[in-house]
Amino acid sequence: MIPRILIVEDEEPLTLLLRYNLEAEGYAVDVCMNGDEAELKLREALPDLLVLDWMLPGLSGIELCRRLRARPESRDLPVIMLTARGEESERIRGLSTGADDYVVKPFSVPELIARVRALLRRARPEVISSLLRAGELELDRETHRVHRSGRELHLGPTEFRLLEFLMQSPGRVFSREQLLDAVWGRDVYVDERTVDVHVGRLRKAINRGRQRDPIRTVRGAGYSFDERFAVAR
Ligand code: CA
Repeated sequence: MIPRILIVEDEEPLTLLLRYNLEAEGYAVDVCMNGDEAELKLREALPDLLVLDWMLPGLSGIELCRRLRARPESRDLPVIMLTARGEESERIRGLSTGADDYVVKPFSVPELIARVRALLRRARPEVISSLLRAGELELDRETHRVHRSGRELHLGPTEFRLLEFLMQSPGRVFSREQLLDAVWGRDVYVDERTVDVHVGRLRKAINRGRQRDPIRTVRGAGYSFDERFAVAR
């Protein structure tokens, strides 16, 4: 299960930064830039966690949080409130808005990600599962074991990270450059063709005989984990 996070924040550069980094951590991220729109969205479907800025156009973050707490279905929704440095943040703490955690701007992205993870572990342990599953394929992030139809597969460390990264976002196409950033890291200088070599090794490790290949090559774009793999037989 991929944990879903809704970010309600009107500073676009910040929402882009948070979305990019939270998605790289394996979360499904949705963004809303207005308090009233966020309230409507939250009435339709609840995410697993809400990152809520307190200064918003439309309904303020404080008021939105109060309203969420007043409704039984969203009473326990995990909420991290973003506040501004200075007296406003002191005031907001005193207002007891019902948020589970507060992060004061400017904050570091790793700090926010750590808070998100800690809150999800506490409030939604079932969504922080170590197991990624698609069809007959199972990847365990804690034991680093991969199984297909119960049979254990033997992957090198790079192939493991590649599969883990692709399985986190089924259907999404990643360019070779994005895969290099996510799997090899930004500071490593390797040729984009290295990605092709490792995708080849990954395929060899996970597909036997005429088994369906879950990795899609998208010409001119990159690779993705076939979202139909999970449902088709
Ligand atoms: Ca704001």
